[in-house]
Amino acid sequence: MKFGELSRGAVDFIDDGRLHGLFATPPDDAHFEDVLAKSMAKEPLSPAETAVLIAADGPEQVERLCEAARELKRQVYGNRIVLFAPLYVGSRCINDCGYCGFRRSNWDAARITLDHDQIREQVTALLEMGHKRLIVVFGEHPRYDARFIADTMRRVYSVRAGEAGIRRVSVNAAPLDREGYAIVMEPGIGVYQVFQETYHHETYARYHPGKKHKSDYLWRLDALSRAQEAGIEDVGIGALFGLYDWRFEVLGLVTHACHFRERFGAGPHTVSFPRLQPASGIRLDEQWLVSDADFKRLVAILRLAVPYTGMILTCRESAEIRREILQFGISQIDAGTRLELGGYSRQRTVTPARGPEDTEAPPLTNADTDGTADSESTAGGQELDREQFRLGDMRSLDEVTRQLMEDGHVPSFCTACYRKGRTGPAFMEFAAPGFIQKFCSPNALSTLQEYLVDYASPETRAAGEKLIQREVERMPAEKRKAAVLDRLKAIREANRRDLIV
Ligand code: SAM
Ligand code: SF4
Repeated sequence: MKFGELSRGAVDFIDDGRLHGLFATPPDDAHFEDVLAKSMAKEPLSPAETAVLIAADGPEQVERLCEAARELKRQVYGNRIVLFAPLYVGSRCINDCGYCGFRRSNWDAARITLDHDQIREQVTALLEMGHKRLIVVFGEHPRYDARFIADTMRRVYSVRAGEAGIRRVSVNAAPLDREGYAIVMEPGIGVYQVFQETYHHETYARYHPGKKHKSDYLWRLDALSRAQEAGIEDVGIGALFGLYDWRFEVLGLVTHACHFRERFGAGPHTVSFPRLQPASGIRLDEQWLVSDADFKRLVAILRLAVPYTGMILTCRESAEIRREILQFGISQIDAGTRLELGGYSRQRTVTPARGPEDTEAPPLTNADTDGTADSESTAGGQELDREQFRLGDMRSLDEVTRQLMEDGHVPSFCTACYRKGRTGPAFMEFAAPGFIQKFCSPNALSTLQEYLVDYASPETRAAGEKLIQREVERMPAEKRKAAVLDRLKAIREANRRDLIV
C-alpha cells in the first residue's frame, strides 16, 4: 500500500520484541530512585527508564510515583488546567476501526457532515458557553481532505458571538501528506493530533482490517513526522488504551516522543491516552481493558517520562475519575463536550444518512431519527448511533470550571503561546522555571477573569473572584503583581478583552 510520500528517512521505530523485553524486566529498587530523580530534574526518560517505573508495582512505589508526578506537574505547569472543547464536523469514514462508532461497516451510524450554517451555529453555541479553544474532529473520508479541513478552520475562526471569537483551532483528523499539512497550516493551526491507537503491530492489524489508509501502520506512525516536516510545530500523539497491554502502549508513546526529539529537536506538544469506551454496535474485548488503578498509574508514569509535554484527559472519563487523575500531571481537559454532530446547539437541524459508508442510503428526515433510537443505543442522554463513543462526563463548562476552582486548580482559557509564536522547540526553551510566573499564570488569570465576567453563573463567578484574589496575593514579584491587577481591573471595569502577555 502506498498513499503518498513518507517523511524523509521514515522508519518503523517500534520494535515489538524490544518493548516487550523492556517491560518484562523485574523491579529494580535502586534504579527506580535514580529514574525518579532524573524525571524530577525535568529530563525526559528513555523507554528503558520508563520501563523501570512500569516495573515498580508495589503499593509504596506506586504511591511514590503518583506523588512525584503531582510535584512535577506543579513545578512545570503550576496549578493551571487549560480548557477546550471538541467539535465533531463529519462522521463519514472509509475505515473500519473495530472500536469506533463511525467505522464504515456500522449500518446504524448516522452519517453527518456539518454545513457552513451548522458550523456557525455550533461555534456560536460554544462561544456562548465561554470556549476559546476548539479541536475540530473528522472521520477519514475523501470529502474531508486538507482543503475541507482548512476551510472548516477558517469558518470556525470567522464566527463571532458579540466580540468573542475562537482563538485557537486544533485538528484531529486522518494523517495527511506534506502538501496537505501545508494547507491546514494556512488558517493558523494549534495542534495536529493523530493517535496511533495501538503501537502493537499485530493488534493494530486486527483492529484496522482491509486495505484502507488506516490499515497501513507506518503511514500512521509517520503521520506527525510529515506534519513537522511541513512546518507544523505542535503535534499531538496518543494511544487508545484498552486495545492492548497498557504497559506496551506507554512504552510506544515514549518511544514516539524520543523519536521526535531526535529528529526534530522537540517532543510532541501533547500526549493523549483515551480509554476505550462503548460505541454503537461494538462489543468490547475485555482482555486489555485498563482498570482505574492502572489508569492512574499510567498517567503518573507518562507525566514523569515526558515532563514538558501537555497531557490531555477527556470527557470519556467520569467526573470522579477526572477529578482524581487531574492531579497526577494533566494540563488540559475538555468540558461541556457533546459528541453528537450538531449537539452543542441542541437543535436537530442535521439530516443524517444511515448505512455502511460509501453506500447511498436515502437520507432520513429528522422525524425519523428523533426519539426513535432503541434503548441499547441511547445512553445517559447520548444517542450512540449519532456519536463516536459514550461519554463519562457530561457536566457543563460552568460546572467543570467551578469544581476545578473548588479543588484548587486555576481554569485557563489562554491561547497566548501559540498566538505569540511560542511553539515547537521555541516553547521548550521557554518552558523553564520562570516561564510560568512570567507568562502562564498572568494569562491564566486574565482569561479566567474574562470568562467569569462574560459567561459564568453567579456561584462560579463568586468562587472565581476569590480564587483570583488568592492567586494574585501569592505572586512573588510586586511589579508583575501590579501589572496583573491592572489587567484584571481593565477587564472588569473597562470591558477590555484579550489582555495577554
Ligand atoms: N478519524 C480520525 C482518525 O482516526 O485519526 C480522527 C480520530 S477519531 C474521530 C478520534 C479518536 O477517538 C481516535 O483516534 C480514537 O483514538 C478515539 N476513539 C475511537 N473510538 C473510540 C472509543 N470507542 N472509545 C474511546 N475513544 C475512541
Ligand atoms: Fe474512522 Fe477515525 Fe473512527 Fe477509525 S477512529 S472508524 S478512522 S473515525
